[in-house]
Amino acid sequence: MASELEYLGADIHGPLWSAHVLQDAPEKIVAVHRAYIEAGAQCIETASYQASRMGYIEAGMKPEQADSAILRSVQLARTAAAEFPGRRIVVAASLGPYGAALHNGAEYHGNYECSFADLVEFHRRRIDVFANAGGYAAPDLLAFETLPSLEEAQAIGEALAPWPHLAAWFSFTCKDENHVAHGEPLRDCASFVAALPQTIAIGVNCTAPPLIRALIAETRSVTGKPIVVYPNSGEGWDAERRCWIGSNDPAGYRELASSWFAAGAQIIGGCCRTRPAHIRQVAEAALSINSSSG
Ligand SMILES: [Zn+2]
Repeated sequence: MASELEYLGADIHGPLWSAHVLQDAPEKIVAVHRAYIEAGAQCIETASYQASRMGYIEAGMKPEQADSAILRSVQLARTAAAEFPGRRIVVAASLGPYGAALHNGAEYHGNYECSFADLVEFHRRRIDVFANAGGYAAPDLLAFETLPSLEEAQAIGEALAPWPHLAAWFSFTCKDENHVAHGEPLRDCASFVAALPQTIAIGVNCTAPPLIRALIAETRSVTGKPIVVYPNSGEGWDAERRCWIGSNDPAGYRELASSWFAAGAQIIGGCCRTRPAHIRQVAEAALSINSSSG
């Protein structure tokens, strides 16, 4: 969402980029959803990754504005999906980790200076908004993503407890072939969330593509639940030069997606720096697998 909004000329450099775009240029968010559905996406994620009461208060806005932004993001996704009446498009509510609301990259190490109770409360606030939403503003599932630690997954599990009927996926950001960003084994995180009644899929996002095959195997070793992976493009962030380096060729993404399907993933997408052209490659990979398996 962020990469594509930038290509459409939206300003995403503020601390709460999604908030500004939701308010000032909602048509751009619909345009991004539309581009992904046209590319073959069967599931789209709302522009709500950073929308939280805590983040809004820090940015000088009213906490209630966060709640309405969250609901608005679902409505915009539904608006785009409604343009394709013959397709069944799943709307997943994007819920970033606590660190994403801090705007300092803390989600990539997970060392938060807050208590477990604070973490539970942070997630509970947002879950309540989605859980109480009706009709057009209700997402099909909650996508907890870029989770850096077992502790944060546990906090979400506690925050979700009053809502056993909700559907959720849990996706972790990983630093190597076995460990989430904060250092716990991915398999420990996966087996914890697999036991939650809300969990419909478990996986990995915002992670380098070369690590994904091994991480799918780690997840599969502890659960039979569907596996979701949406890595970054092949580029890496050069912190010294403050720019992205390496290849971002969508053509290579098809082969990667095929290998991830073959390794046991059921849901595949793209995170940072991927574009609709990448998703088109994934859709073609899925199509060729479905036709070869009859
Ligand atoms: Zn990412």
